Amino acid sequence: MGRAAPTGDWRLVAEPGRGVKILAAPTRGILNPPAATGMRFWSLNPYVGCEFGCSYCYARRTHKWTIERGSNVRGAPATVREAAALPSAVAFERRILAKTDAPEHLAEELRPARFGGLPIVIGSATDPYQPAERQLQLTRQLLKSFLHHTGLHLGIITKSALVARDAELLARLAERHRVSVHLSLASLDAALLRKLEPRTPTPRARLRAMEQLATAGVPVGILIAPILPGLTDDTVTLHTLLAAAKAAGAQWAGGGPLRMNPATRHTLLPWLDAHRPTLARRYREHYGTRQGATPEYQSALRERLDALQVLVGLNPKEGAVREREFTTPRTQEQGELFGEPRTANGA
Ligand code: SF4
Repeated sequence: MGRAAPTGDWRLVAEPGRGVKILAAPTRGILNPPAATGMRFWSLNPYVGCEFGCSYCYARRTHKWTIERGSNVRGAPATVREAAALPSAVAFERRILAKTDAPEHLAEELRPARFGGLPIVIGSATDPYQPAERQLQLTRQLLKSFLHHTGLHLGIITKSALVARDAELLARLAERHRVSVHLSLASLDAALLRKLEPRTPTPRARLRAMEQLATAGVPVGILIAPILPGLTDDTVTLHTLLAAAKAAGAQWAGGGPLRMNPATRHTLLPWLDAHRPTLARRYREHYGTRQGATPEYQSALRERLDALQVLVGLNPKEGAVREREFTTPRTQEQGELFGEPRTANGA
């Protein structure tokens, strides 16, 4: 049976301050099958847009398309027309679309047999624990639906310390399912991250969240993503980050180099021009028109990451297994954060 007609009406759900408005987005359903995304997993994204505003985010185009589609219909509500009138980069971070009927959709769509053993990833496109979640609790409600089932494989990708709010719930889920929380953190350099990811929680807050999850019995690993050539890829940066994650209870580490997809190119290159002009030139040379880093760079980085994991007491094979569960064999540009050839929350 096909999905029902979209519900939701672009109504204003909340205005939490900081110039942000949260709108109820029309949705036809909540579970994205692999056939629709080209990924090797099912995915769930309760929000479109993200207040964290990372300069390298892959998910910006999906937000733009969604707003354009909503505003281009006759009689479109003023809320979506106002969002469409904003520059798309501003709208992505300030007009958050919340799938307020996601819990009802999931209750209808959650039939474990249909997943065929494939993982279900929450937050494959945008952060499920971004600031809007504090008030709306959509991710929390979605997670609760999985308490009625067993034997599934759930992955969560987030840069947010808010995930620790659900530590107890995630621990209960981990008793019933295979659960992997991938806490994304690219560096311990808080000043650098403040420029690159203006509104993400500090590295210290994310490590504390990791510790809370691990203490509660939730399987958690660090996702170093994206690794930015010339900014966060040196041995000292990666070593200190891996050591801190291990000390905070990370059971595995994953991650990979920046992918320069069109959305990333549009926002990151201007950021580099403004903050690191020399590096901007090198990025243009290195990436050219390609999306991935060169194979030589990727394999050297992989070797370095593996060696550093061993050094801090993590098993690279465990990281590879967890990561492979959420990678795909082909390029995916429509906002999925885990793209070929490896992962990244935004990344
Ligand atoms: S990379 Fe993730 S956390 Fe950053 S803006 Fe995009 S969705 Fe949000």
